Amino acid sequence: MNTRRNFLKTVSLGAAAAVLPRPAFSADNAKKQPNILFIFSDDHAFQAISAYGGRLAKVAPTPNIDRLAKEGMIFTKSYVTNSICAPCRAVIQTGKHSHINGVLDNRQRFNADQQTFPKLLRKVGYQTAIVGKWHLKAIPTGFDYSEVLPGQGNYYNPTMLIGPKRVKHTGYVTDIVTDLGLDWLKNKRDKSKPFMLMLQHKAPHRRWNPNLKHLNLFDDVEIPEPDNLFDDYKGRGTAAAKQDMSIAKTMDRVDLKLVTPRTLNAEQKKVWDAAYQPKNAKFQAAKLEGKDLIRWKYQRYLKDYLRCIRSVDENVGRVLKYLDESGLAKNTIVIYSSDQGFYLGEHGWFDKRFMYKESFRTPLLARWPGVTKPGSTSADLVQNLDYAQTFLDIAGAPDPSDMQGASLKPLLAGKTPASWRKSLYYHYYEFPAVHSVRRHEGVATKTHKLIHYYDLDEWELFDLVKDPDEMTSQYANPKYASVVADLKTELIRLKAAYKVTKPAPLRQPRRRT
Ligand code: CA
Repeated sequence: MNTRRNFLKTVSLGAAAAVLPRPAFSADNAKKQPNILFIFSDDHAFQAISAYGGRLAKVAPTPNIDRLAKEGMIFTKSYVTNSICAPCRAVIQTGKHSHINGVLDNRQRFNADQQTFPKLLRKVGYQTAIVGKWHLKAIPTGFDYSEVLPGQGNYYNPTMLIGPKRVKHTGYVTDIVTDLGLDWLKNKRDKSKPFMLMLQHKAPHRRWNPNLKHLNLFDDVEIPEPDNLFDDYKGRGTAAAKQDMSIAKTMDRVDLKLVTPRTLNAEQKKVWDAAYQPKNAKFQAAKLEGKDLIRWKYQRYLKDYLRCIRSVDENVGRVLKYLDESGLAKNTIVIYSSDQGFYLGEHGWFDKRFMYKESFRTPLLARWPGVTKPGSTSADLVQNLDYAQTFLDIAGAPDPSDMQGASLKPLLAGKTPASWRKSLYYHYYEFPAVHSVRRHEGVATKTHKLIHYYDLDEWELFDLVKDPDEMTSQYANPKYASVVADLKTELIRLKAAYKVTKPAPLRQPRRRT
């Protein structure tokens, strides 16, 4: 506004104004729709981003992702609505909870005919593109350009889809996805329009296959263990005890790189075997058992996972460098997030699904030059449900009345509305299924979390201030009776507000007749 006033004042000076240079920041520039670059990964735990601190920050730093925190905002209370891949992606596309957008679990196909934010961005003049992992089964709609991995895709020499057309690539998926994103930015878009690019990595999804150049990274390093690596699940209910996602029991030989991946070509296989075979021979000779074996598996898992993260971080660096060099950085919002979080040995687990902290949370960092204060932190409760409306708000598009989140634009500008949400609703549906995590829903505030495993009719309550690692449910503790009552009321309120429908009866495993 000041710029505008000063500009008018300058004009009123009369004829002399005509020869004055055009103001560097004109009203037109101020109104210009910013570009949006959404960099997204798959299963990237906040514990594996050094800007969030924690036990891995020193051993496996992520300087390029951290740059977004340094030059923008880091969200410390960022969550998902349903912690599993495809449902999270459907929530982001639609701004609606799973029971409304129709993707409750990884088995369901996204109805790509429904309203999505990219379709609405195009209506206000944006060019839209998606490269990398899509994972919604249907052919992407609402994008001027798409080149996506089929299903989960491969780490090595991936095939990709342009519409229904298959294109074979040679190399490592994280590099290739970045190459495709940069190629679109440089050569394939209409430069007269603002852009929205979703650059979506497969990494670091299971089976955590690193770039060949990183196979020996961390070889001489001891990765710190979480305090609850040997969790016995006392103090919680059936679901935590009966899952099938533990490092001890579930992780298999392919996960642990005791088997050479089949997608490598002959030349790549030589490099891979040269790196892993000596390490595997040493492991076989050691004949580890019990806790020593779990500790070895944890080290192998974390090193491969963090090797995958190294490539993600390097490639974020490549993109930021291009934005700097091209001059795009000034008018481009860069957002980094993951479809959901992940267990890196906490509770003895890998995978996600639970409403417990490590998988309920997801990383969120954003840099918006001129709007977001560098080095700022938001501790407001935000959810992936908010992304669609945020993108639309940034673009100056109308807020569709049927979306269920809220724009993060005011938060990015450092002004949290007084009416901002004080609680979050969560609902996980995929059971019976791989990893055997029971269906549950719940409500969380900044201080407490109430979870209902409704098929078991078991409840858990956690005091997030006194017990941040969620080791002991206080549900049966009389001291927490009023907290439980309040949260049950809040859960009912949220379910009504989000129009939550009763889930279908539990599918029974097929019986042989
Ligand atoms: Ca995922």
